[in-house]
Amino acid sequence: MTDHIIRLACDAQNYPWGKVGNDSIISQFGPEASGNDWKFDENTPYAELWMTTHPNLPSKLYAHPSTLLSKHLYEHPELLGVVPQKFPKPVEGKKDKHVPFVFKILTCKQALPLQIHPDKTLAAQLHARDPAKFPDANHKPEIAVALTPFLGFAGFAPFDRIESNLRSIPELAQLLGRFASYEAYLRDPTSKDKVKALVKDILGMNQKSSGVLESAKDAIKAVTGLAREPERERGGGDAQGVVRSLIERIERDGAGEVFGGTMWDQEQGQRIERALKKTQEYYAGDPGIIVACFFMNLIELKPGEAMYVPEDGLHAWLDGQIIELMANSDDVLNAAFIEPGEKDDLNIFIDAMRCDPRPAETYKIKRARWSLSEGAGAEVYQVPAEEFSLYHVAGSESTSTTIKPLNGPTIAILTSVPSTGTATITDKTANKTIEVNKGQVYFVAAGTTVEFGAGVEAWAAFYDDQVREQTGDMK
Ligand SMILES: [Zn+2]
Repeated sequence: MTDHIIRLACDAQNYPWGKVGNDSIISQFGPEASGNDWKFDENTPYAELWMTTHPNLPSKLYAHPSTLLSKHLYEHPELLGVVPQKFPKPVEGKKDKHVPFVFKILTCKQALPLQIHPDKTLAAQLHARDPAKFPDANHKPEIAVALTPFLGFAGFAPFDRIESNLRSIPELAQLLGRFASYEAYLRDPTSKDKVKALVKDILGMNQKSSGVLESAKDAIKAVTGLAREPERERGGGDAQGVVRSLIERIERDGAGEVFGGTMWDQEQGQRIERALKKTQEYYAGDPGIIVACFFMNLIELKPGEAMYVPEDGLHAWLDGQIIELMANSDDVLNAAFIEPGEKDDLNIFIDAMRCDPRPAETYKIKRARWSLSEGAGAEVYQVPAEEFSLYHVAGSESTSTTIKPLNGPTIAILTSVPSTGTATITDKTANKTIEVNKGQVYFVAAGTTVEFGAGVEAWAAFYDDQVREQTGDMK
């Protein structure tokens, strides 16, 4: 018989947009999360810690690093409870079994690519056509929960906000007036087709002037003394020049004055100012800046707050450190904030992109004290996706928290332990206690009663098909 609480070895992705070295919270967890392979380098970005069976960075058994969790679950499918009957595998034909989610810690110092995750139909088509680039045939709804103050773009802002941005900020008229789609949208400002056509024109514009190429030009200019190429084209200015002059005007007159005709309050105007400067710093000239700042919701989360992005939903995280939890997929289509050669086909992107303009608040999800928890207690998040949910044990210094058995699996990361004394988690079903440390990651089998000892803080991704009935008052 195998253990029902199993320590995992999990690795980090070093995507270039991640926070670097000790700035990344992942560097605190890595030595215990990853095991003996962990190597720290102060100049390396630690973007994502993966706790999952997904083949792009699968977790292993800590005690047997040559065994993948997915292989272990194949040999002991009872550990997954009801999951194998409920969800297809992300890739068929292998001797493995899967948890239905990818659980991550994610950090970003600059914007992630402006992206969508394809729905199941498109994911299956893309995976069949190019399995190296699209590793699975699954969709990927996801949630983000802030560990530190977090800023991210999600979904289209309500139509009246988009329209007021376009009508009241002259720099946008100057930039976008060249497109027939701009006039067409302003004549019919609640048309999803027309706003999508305009966004397509913007994302496809002056790809020559991407941030990467601009910095190459700057480098050539520095070496040769040659003047920069003329910035204005067709009399309208390019995205880089327009964003730069908008930032200059904000610095001169204040965000309140520049955004006075929009529907943003002062606080949101200041967030947009921050977003403009931050995207311009890393992606000068990328027309995604215009789409993100003036067509999308810019959402701020305080620690503990969460938001949900459905499949095909447009999003780009901007700054902060989060828990990210999604269906078991790593498929993505990128349209901006990435090197030009890595952008995906714009026709496919725009076709698939969900356009349901609605307020930022509707992206946030609530949490409540969980009736399946006892003792100090846990909070559970109200996740609309079918494949996953999330609970948080805050780590009371004096009282332990017990979670009743679930009918699916759990993966938990221990983000804090008491400063003195012994930290433990206990399999109450088997009466087995484990001494633990900050950063360790555990798989908990279906049907297990688990107790987090006093002072142990944990974030836990799980599947249980009854969970929606089990919650108390929401906040
Ligand atoms: Zn995403």
